[in-house]
Amino acid sequence: MQRQILFRCPRTGMNVQHRTDDERPERSEPADSYVPVRCPACMSLHFVNSTTGKLLNEPSGQPGSRPRSA
Ligand SMILES: [Zn+2]
Repeated sequence: MQRQILFRCPRTGMNVQHRTDDERPERSEPADSYVPVRCPACMSLHFVNSTTGKLLNEPSGQPGSRPRSA
């Protein structure tokens, strides 16, 4: 079974479509599970909620506009 996850890359702000092949129907994931996705936009790994497409550690605000005072 093929699923599609749509999320927005927090680094580039691009909308990314990720397809995942789930060939194990017996392995039922919980509805609120985050899966690691290799982002084609920034080439790094994001954890995306497979159900809602929400990102783990998603900044609550506009992406990229968060000033870093470090
Ligand atoms: Zn990304």
